[in-house]
Amino acid sequence: MAVLHPGYFDAGLSADPELAAAVAGELKRQQEGIELIASENLVSRAVLEAQGSVLTNKTVEGRAFARYYGGAAFADAIEDLAVRRATALFRCRFANVQPHSGSNANAGVFFGLLRLGDTILAMDTAAGGHISHGHPATLTGRDYRIARYGVNRETERIDLDEVAALAKRERPKMIVAGGSAYPRAIDFAGFRAIADEVGAWLMVDMAHVAGLVATGLYPDPLPHAHVVTSTSYKSLRGARGGFALWNDDALSARIDAGIFPGVQGSVMMHGVAGKAACFGEALKPEFRAYNEAVLAGAQALARRLSDRGLRIVAGGADCGLLLADLTPLGLTGDVAAKALERAGLAVNKNLIPFDPRPPEAPSGLRLSANAGAARGFGAAEFETVADWIADVVEAPDDAARIAAVAASVREMTARFPVYGA
Ligand SMILES: *Cc1c(COP(=O)(O)O)cnc(C)c1O
Repeated sequence: MAVLHPGYFDAGLSADPELAAAVAGELKRQQEGIELIASENLVSRAVLEAQGSVLTNKTVEGRAFARYYGGAAFADAIEDLAVRRATALFRCRFANVQPHSGSNANAGVFFGLLRLGDTILAMDTAAGGHISHGHPATLTGRDYRIARYGVNRETERIDLDEVAALAKRERPKMIVAGGSAYPRAIDFAGFRAIADEVGAWLMVDMAHVAGLVATGLYPDPLPHAHVVTSTSYKSLRGARGGFALWNDDALSARIDAGIFPGVQGSVMMHGVAGKAACFGEALKPEFRAYNEAVLAGAQALARRLSDRGLRIVAGGADCGLLLADLTPLGLTGDVAAKALERAGLAVNKNLIPFDPRPPEAPSGLRLSANAGAARGFGAAEFETVADWIADVVEAPDDAARIAAVAASVREMTARFPVYGA
C-alpha cells in the first residue's frame, strides 16, 4: 500500500476525535460569543480553504520566479497574484507577502535596513505601541537601541513636537509609526518630515488599520513611509500572516533579503494563498462597505459606552478599535474582561496612557468592531453590545445579570451565523 494507513489522504479530522472536538468547540465559541478583541476577525470560507489547501505541501525559498527548489510554477503564480493584488489594493509599487507574521515583517525590515545597535524611535507599548517595535523582551529590543515616544497627557494623542524633539536628541536610523492600541488618526506626513530632518527611515506598521487604509477610510501611509508593514488577519479580515509594502526600488533587495534569509526560511505557501484570497476580497466594492461598518461600529461602541459612564481614551475612535477607561466605574480591566467573558463577550484588558496600574490589572479595555462587522453587526447591534458591556462592568459579581446578558448574546449571535453554523 502506498499510504501510511487507510484514509491517510481522505479521512479528515473526524478520524482524530480528540482534536476534532477541540476545533468544533472553537467554532461553537466563535459562533456563540461576540468577538471584540482587536487582533481578531472572521475570515471568509475562501480564505479558510486557501489556508487549508495543498499549498501547505509545497516548500519554496526566495521570491516568485527565482526559487531555489523546482516544481514551483503554481507557487509562483499564487505569490505573484498575492503581490499584484497587494500593490493594487494599497496603490504602491512593491510588496513582499512572505512574512509569517506581523512581527516577522517588522523584524525583516529592521534587519534589511538597519545595522546592529542602530537606534529605533518607536511608540512606547504603554502608550499603545506594539512589542515587535523593540520591546526589551524581544529580539528587536536586544539588537537595536530603542527610544520611545508616547502620547500627550491631556489629549492622549501623539504629539509630533515631542516626536521631533526626541528624534533630534536620539538621532534614530528608523522611526516607527503605528501601534496596537492607538485609536486616532496618525499624521504620516508629519512623521515623514521628522524622519527626513534627522535622516531616518520611516516605517509605518498599519496592522490595525490596513482595511481602512485600503478603502480610503484612514490616512494613507504609503505616500509618506519608506516602508509599510502590516498583518493580514486583523483589520484586513484575512489570512494569518504579515506583509511589507514600499515604493522605492532601491530598497527592494534589502527588504526582501531582510525577510528571507534575514529572519525566515522557506515560505508558508498556504498562508500566501490565504493572503491572495483576502487581498482579492478586499479589492471588491463590498470590502468598502465592510470597513464603513467597522468604523461606524467602533464609533457606536464609543458613544454608548461613554453615555454609560466609561471614559473613552483620546475621546473617540478614528479606526476600528477603541480604548475604554474603567476608572470612573471603580474596577480594573482584568476583572471586567473576566466578567465579560462569562457573558460571552470577548475583550482584552489594556493599559491606558499614563496608566497608574500594572499591565496585569490595568485601567482599561481594548475593544474592536472588526469581527462583529464581519458577521453583519451594524451600529444598532454595537450599541446594544455596548449596553451589555456596561451592564456587566457595573456589576461584575452579579451572576444573575451576567446570565441574562449571556442569554441575550446567544440570541443575537444566533441571528448572525458564522460559517453556516
Ligand atoms: C498584531 C500586531 C503585530 C504583530 O503581529 P503578529 O502576527 O502577532 O506577529 C505587529 N504590529 C502591530 C501594530 C500589531 O498590532
